[in-house]
Amino acid sequence: MSVAAPPLLTFDNSFVRELTGLYEPWQAAGAPAPALLALNEQLAVELGLDPEALRAPDGVAVLVGNAVPEGASTVAQAYAGHQFGGYSPRLGDGRALLLGEVLDVDGCRRDLHLKGSGRTPFARGGDGKAAVGPMLREYVISEAMHALCIPTTRSLAVVATGEHIARETMVPGAVLTRVAASHLRVGTFQYAAATGDPELLRRLADYAIARHHPEAADAENPYLALFASVVNAQASLVARWMLVGFVHGVMNTDNVAISGETIDYGPCAFMDAFDPATVFSSIDVGGRYAYGNQPQVAQWNLARFAESLLPLIGSEPDEAVAAATEVLQSFPGRYARYWSHGMRGKLGLTYERPRDDALIEDLLALMHAQRVDFTSGLRALSSTVRGDGGPARALFADSPEFDAWSQRWSTRLSAQAIDRPAVADAMDRVNPVYVPRNHLVEAALEAATADDLQPLRQLLDVLAQPFDERPGLEAYAAPAPSELAAYRTFCGT
Ligand code: AMP
Ligand code: MG
Repeated sequence: MSVAAPPLLTFDNSFVRELTGLYEPWQAAGAPAPALLALNEQLAVELGLDPEALRAPDGVAVLVGNAVPEGASTVAQAYAGHQFGGYSPRLGDGRALLLGEVLDVDGCRRDLHLKGSGRTPFARGGDGKAAVGPMLREYVISEAMHALCIPTTRSLAVVATGEHIARETMVPGAVLTRVAASHLRVGTFQYAAATGDPELLRRLADYAIARHHPEAADAENPYLALFASVVNAQASLVARWMLVGFVHGVMNTDNVAISGETIDYGPCAFMDAFDPATVFSSIDVGGRYAYGNQPQVAQWNLARFAESLLPLIGSEPDEAVAAATEVLQSFPGRYARYWSHGMRGKLGLTYERPRDDALIEDLLALMHAQRVDFTSGLRALSSTVRGDGGPARALFADSPEFDAWSQRWSTRLSAQAIDRPAVADAMDRVNPVYVPRNHLVEAALEAATADDLQPLRQLLDVLAQPFDERPGLEAYAAPAPSELAAYRTFCGT
């Protein structure tokens, strides 16, 4: 591996500096014949990088792990985690490296991270590699989430390595460059707590407070305040997922970021017909991570976070547990408020009235019973507000039932002293037309794996403006043809 001239990156690696004990210095395996498949030029500019420099061979070498830019300090991060409820004391970056941290053009600290860069001391039985399809999938879905205004890690680039790796068949390998507010996870705290070194746990918590929840530093009990802040961030995040029909699919504690960003796009997918039991992941046989379970699972994960923080929250165990429990129990209320607020926006309800929650629940019950596509069903409501009830009505098999609901909704809207076109426009700003529908993502990835990048580029363009309906893009707004509807995602990423 050579040291290349950095494409204008200035690193400041606080994690490595301050959190010895939570990582292993390591190097990427390197790639025989790198080829850039996707580059996020806007994100590059946000990071203060020149997209042309990244496209050049020296830039691609950095993005695939063949060259280490000056100032980088590549490490594999250590973490533990509960996976599907079972605890693994040592997970860590088995196939990824933290390249380092940079300050973006707004002065925000961002991690640059390579995923698929080869085996590390945490690789266990894995090959350390990632395939082109799943890395492009993370790129597409994370960028779609960002455009939907949902906190998320970002994707800077995907570079094919030029080698083939063994999955169900031999498939082309790739490295994703992920950009994140940080990669601190609940599992990072579990790992630190399990070392039994209270000083390490405290250093980690102080670091997390300073980096993500600085207001907690001034609280009477900063560690309890950190916990409360993360509880709030997760309540908000999961509500945002639910509002767009996103199913994360693998909400293990190692995949819960302390920053409140969505992290780790594996078997995730967007729900088509509204159904709380929706599961896409082939390994989630019990439906633990089904769409409708996500709020409870988030709370369960936060309980594991609280457990790891207990020694810091108080020296008297009973008191620490009581204090943490009280904060944890605020989760359902916080979540419900974020969800209701979001749903009211989707229905054009500009302020809160007592029976709004019933109106929301009754619509969802109708959508569930009549298997209405979640995204199109909500988007079509603005046409009703503009005076054309046809598009929404057409999505419900039992139209009279929908009409009865719609009448109640219309009465509720009439109570608002705001003109209907303005309400409809506001609804269109929160009800997306375009989400990364499974069949479209699959088609784009299949083409890309066979060297045709055009469908992927087109899909990325469409998803970058999810709220602006554009003529000619009808196929991107439509639900999957029924023969493709029983979609499954696979963890063999
Ligand atoms: P994930 O399902 O991506 O959240 O990964 C769970 C754990 O498995 C993490 O510790 C990963 O680093 C590790 N892992 C996943 N795939 C591989 C692989 N191909 N090689 C080595 N480690 C892996
Ligand atoms: Mg993970």
